[in-house]
Amino acid sequence: MRDVVLLICQECKRKNYSFTKNKKAQSGKIEIKKYCKFDRRHTVHKETKA
Ligand SMILES: [Zn+2]
Repeated sequence: MRDVVLLICQECKRKNYSFTKNKKAQSGKIEIKKYCKFDRRHTVHKETKA
């Protein structure tokens, strides 16, 4: 089974990215710096369940 995961910008709280992840391959919460088009800069994005 693959879970759909959302990455939420911690600055504006928008859901900027979504992807599927393999439950067995990855564990723990993802916290990653990605470009936010609303803030127009790189911000911290945190994983959340769709
Ligand atoms: Zn943002």
